[in-house]
Order: sequence, then C-alpha cells, then structure tokens
Amino acid sequence: MAVELTSALDPAWSTADPAPLAPAHAERLAEIGALDAALAELYRRGAEALAGAPDAAALKERYTVLLGRERGVLTAALAGLPALPVEQRKARGRGLNLVKRWLGEVHDARRAALEREAESRGGVDVTLPGRRPWIGRTHPLAQVRDELLDLFHGLGYSVYTSPEVEWDEYNFGKLNFAPDHPARDAHDTFFVDPRTVLRTHTSPGWVRAMEERRPPLRLVFPGRVYRAEQVDASHMDQFHQIDGLFVDRQVSMADLKATLNTFARAIYGAGVRTRLIPIYFPFVEPGCQLDIACALCDGTGRTRDAAGERRCAVCKGSGWSELLGAGMVHPNVFRAVGYEPEEVTGFAFGMGIERIAMARFGVPEIRLFLENDLRFLNQF
Ligand SMILES: [Zn+2]
Repeated sequence: MAVELTSALDPAWSTADPAPLAPAHAERLAEIGALDAALAELYRRGAEALAGAPDAAALKERYTVLLGRERGVLTAALAGLPALPVEQRKARGRGLNLVKRWLGEVHDARRAALEREAESRGGVDVTLPGRRPWIGRTHPLAQVRDELLDLFHGLGYSVYTSPEVEWDEYNFGKLNFAPDHPARDAHDTFFVDPRTVLRTHTSPGWVRAMEERRPPLRLVFPGRVYRAEQVDASHMDQFHQIDGLFVDRQVSMADLKATLNTFARAIYGAGVRTRLIPIYFPFVEPGCQLDIACALCDGTGRTRDAAGERRCAVCKGSGWSELLGAGMVHPNVFRAVGYEPEEVTGFAFGMGIERIAMARFGVPEIRLFLENDLRFLNQF
C-alpha cells in the first residue's frame, strides 16, 4: 500500500526538514501514523519534498504531483476510498484529509519563504533574460505627413501652421465662400460661436500667410481639420490635410500641373499615370482634381481572379482614384488679403493624409487611425 501511495513521488527530489515550516510536524506525523502507517509515510515524504523545493517552479511541480486537483496523489487516493474494506475506509478517509490540509500548509509556508528570499536578494536575478525596452514609434499618419513634408521641402516649400480654432471669416469669407454660398453646406461645420469655427480645411492658413507676407510664397500647411460628418469606414469628424500654396508673378496652370505630376511620381513611382479633371472649389479658378490610375486594377476598372472578372472594388470601376484637389488661386482670395490680382498669380493644392495612408498601407477603416489601439499601431 505504501508503494502505491508514494510511487508518484520522484526519489530524486531534494528534501529538507519541514519542522521549521510546520512547528507541529512531529505531532502531526504521529497523529497520521496512528490512523494509517502508509499515509504517515506519504505525509513525511511529501512534507520533506515541499520543504526542500529549491525554487518556485520546483515547488509548484511538487505541489501538482501531491495536491493537484486533477491528477494529484491525494485526489487519486480519495477517489479510491470506496473500493476499500469498510473498516479501513474510515481511518484512511480521516487521514487523507489531514494529509491534504497539512501538506497544503507546508506548501504555503515554503512558498512564502521563497518569496521572502527573492525580495531580500534585492529582486535582481542576473540569470533572467532581459526585458525588451519599449520603443515608441511614429504614428502611421505622422509617417505619411513627414514623408510628404520632406518631399515638398525638396521642392522648395516651407511649413506654415495656423490655428485649429479659426474665424469663420478666415475659414470661409476670405476664401471666397459667399455668406449664403451652398458650398458652405459641403463643409459641415463645428461652430464655437457664430463667428468662430473649428477649421474645416487647412486653407485658412493661406489667408494668414498672405496677410503676413509678401510674394513670392512657397508654403505647405499641414494640420488637423474638423467636419460634422457622420462617422463611417471612410469618414471621420476629424482628419488631416496638407495644403500647398505657390504665389509669384506669372505662375501658370502648367506650373501647377508639373508640380502635381512631380509629386505624384515621387509617392507612387515614375510610371504612375495621372489626369486632371475640372472641379469646383470657391477659392480657386479654375479648379481641378488630380487622379492617379488605380493601383489595384492598373486603370482598367476591372480585376480578375479565380472566380472570373469583376468590377474593381478600389476605384469602383472607374480606373482612377482621387489624389488631391488643386487650382489657380481665385482673384477674390488675393483681393481679400490685399494682394493685387493683376500683379500676382498662384496655385494651390490640398490633400487628405488619411486617404493617402489608407491607400499606402491598405487600411480599410479610417477610424483605426484615431483609436490608438496598439495592435494596429504596432504594425507600422
Ligand atoms: Zn481599380
């Protein structure tokens, strides 16, 4: 019987006298021995093994062998009780409960002693593997913004920043939005008060820059903008833009086109195909939109896979995707800032950073950029 109960105990386990951990150890051993000699042997060897566990891992392993809920020696012995003769069963049952409780106490005492030892060593275990330091990284939107700013820096543009809380007059009026102009509806605006808004675009920066400085100007305006939009997969109530402004004498649409093509090739490669299509913005005349050939379908509008040919999901079959809006600065904008439209001309362009980042990284949801979920951010 003794062989059976202790057979799971590893004879190679280090041992120690459990008396310092369990003050009544000798009495307990005698009490169990009076009930069942085999249990006394189990308790003695178990207590010595727990007391002699050299570290927390060894202690846990021995605890599992002895007292584990699933496969522990005590659990198995209790399960075997009904098979015993009645006269033996009662003493064995009482004895097993004592062994279980008292071995548990030896285990707890040994664990506390090991923890105290670890603390008194000063908590430095030079054998532990090092922890990787947390290294921050740039947000994907900041990466794209910095890359674009680098590019424009190379084209001779410098950065101009302006307030996010802006006068209605600068956000709209001086940019040639008439007070009742329907174009204001396209910018669903957050008002701070009737004269103050959260800027709906970075273009108010042009007005401020031109009021402060005389031409020639070659500036880019990065920043956060706000729209009272219904939030969905591709719309947020706040996002980021970069505007560019070039003002000098005799700046022409050809200069604009050359600049935009240089820009498109720099981010999408020398082979990218572009087109300019006319579009209306109040602050430019003429206004245009620069499209690039869809990267997924290569401008064909169709994609082909194992299931056959279908409409391209990225460009919705058009073959083109919008990169930015642009145009020649409207004479009324020059008049509003005190420039003489007969003397100076200029072009401007603006793009959404999120749109470029989504295309670049294949991000399907604009909201991911602002949720600050590390599982997302750590991928960049
Ligand atoms: Zn496409």
